[in-house]
Amino acid sequence: MPEGHTVHRTANEFSNLFAGSEVTVSSPQGRFSAGAKLISGRVLVKAKAIGKQLFLEFDNGLTLRIHLGIYGKWSFKKHQGELPEAVGQVRARFVNQNHFADLRGPTVCEVISKAEVKAVEKRLGPDPLNPNPKGQQEQRFVDKVHSSKTSIGLLLMNQDVISGIGNVYRAEILFRAGISPHRPGSTLTEQEIRAIWADAVDLLKVGVKTGHMITRDELRTKKPNKADRNYVYKREGTPCRNCGTNVSIEIMATRKLYWCVSCQN
Ligand SMILES: [Zn+2]
Repeated sequence: MPEGHTVHRTANEFSNLFAGSEVTVSSPQGRFSAGAKLISGRVLVKAKAIGKQLFLEFDNGLTLRIHLGIYGKWSFKKHQGELPEAVGQVRARFVNQNHFADLRGPTVCEVISKAEVKAVEKRLGPDPLNPNPKGQQEQRFVDKVHSSKTSIGLLLMNQDVISGIGNVYRAEILFRAGISPHRPGSTLTEQEIRAIWADAVDLLKVGVKTGHMITRDELRTKKPNKADRNYVYKREGTPCRNCGTNVSIEIMATRKLYWCVSCQN
């Protein structure tokens, strides 16, 4: 499943290629035909991401909300007037003068009102990649973690607590912080929680820039292989890069959790 950086990259792509232009929207597969009619031919005003959700705002006050889920995928291409036939199950196709984008397999693809957008925004936890005037987003995160007896490993995967973190960043952020995933949120110090937030901001920015979840600082400017990018994610049974203890794997609420029992406590 894509983590937040991917969705922010898609929002940037939409801003660059489609914002300010009239967009023809269709549903080659048919499942989104009614929704497409509501926004087709309108100007895309803004594209933004909150965590794993994408919001495309049109000039008639309607917004298309998209969540890719596990199988959803985007493809963006240039065209010269003639469009290729849709291949496979294309839920929605977006076309302007020069480009088109195909959306396949999303979990959510629905047209909603401004009031409904507000309600979704209120429900979603703070996103480390969204501008954070006066630190309110960070404070929301601190308060949510501090007031919870749930383990920090689960809290980081809860999109109501923090938006955009998935299994890779969860494992890596906790390793970098030296914090056990099993510690209840309420036992973390304010300093520890703020450090987690700051690291999430930092790592997600690298993700947006490079398109890869690189969590080892020394590899940021390189193009590391998948196997080298991370400290503990998918490295179970191999020596921790820091202490040599074998990296552990366990199932936490149906998801695989990777961590070092020596470095994280
Ligand atoms: Zn270790």
